Amino acid sequence: MTSQTPGDCLFCKIAAGDIPSDRVAESERSIAFRDIRPAAPVHVLVVPRRHEPTVGALATASDEDLADVFRLAAQVADQEGVADAYRMVVNTGSEAGQTIFHAHVHVLAGTAFTERKMV
Ligand code: AMP
Ligand code: ZN
Repeated sequence: MTSQTPGDCLFCKIAAGDIPSDRVAESERSIAFRDIRPAAPVHVLVVPRRHEPTVGALATASDEDLADVFRLAAQVADQEGVADAYRMVVNTGSEAGQTIFHAHVHVLAGTAFTERKMV
């Protein structure tokens, strides 16, 4: 699905601190930082430190890393004061909008989720 390896992966470099990010939370297994092009007032990316190209691959590779990403995402929603109304979005595959092939979850909030539609 991808030719990216940890050595040339943007999110691996952000996790390592080699590229700056606006970090809002972290755990032993995951980091959370603000999206550089926010699509909502709250738009945080939650990223496992482990390099896997997709969330599905992460699930296959490690129950612990998968659980930790979602745990940290919920913690971020709490921290940001949006625990009662937020979305987690996972894009998988370029046709579905995935641009960075290192697993990540978008935490989106602060906008009116009036539409019933998912897409
Ligand atoms: P996706 O399209 O699901 O792969 O999400 C990748 C996200 O990474 C996009 O929403 C980008 O705006 C975001 N992004 C790209 N580069 C950076 C960066 N250097 N710091 C923070 N977010 C980034
Ligand atoms: Zn990576």
